[in-house]
Amino acid sequence: MTEPQEIPITRQKRWQNENPLKRWAHIAVQSAINRGLLERKPCEVCGAERTDAHHTDYHRPLSVRWLCRKHHIAVHREAEQPEADQSAPDPEASGKHNA
Ligand SMILES: [Zn+2]
Ligand SMILES: [Zn+2]
Repeated sequence: MTEPQEIPITRQKRWQNENPLKRWAHIAVQSAINRGLLERKPCEVCGAERTDAHHTDYHRPLSVRWLCRKHHIAVHREAEQPEADQSAPDPEASGKHNA
């Protein structure tokens, strides 16, 4: 082991400790891909090839959606703040036209 001893707990380790179910789901996906049981697919929104497995239900670790980083983040944003800012004024429509 060549890891420095000064850092008691990394953010990732902390996340793993606090989210054992999610961690397990991620490991299950990785291992299924390695064994050829699960196929990595392009982003279902934009077709990008670099994708993350997004879990809709962590109790079903192989039930995933394939999303690129950008769309993966977008899905989590939507999940965290449902119907956010529906009433916020649209800056384009606020009457200020500086042609
Ligand atoms: Zn995408
Ligand atoms: Zn996700």
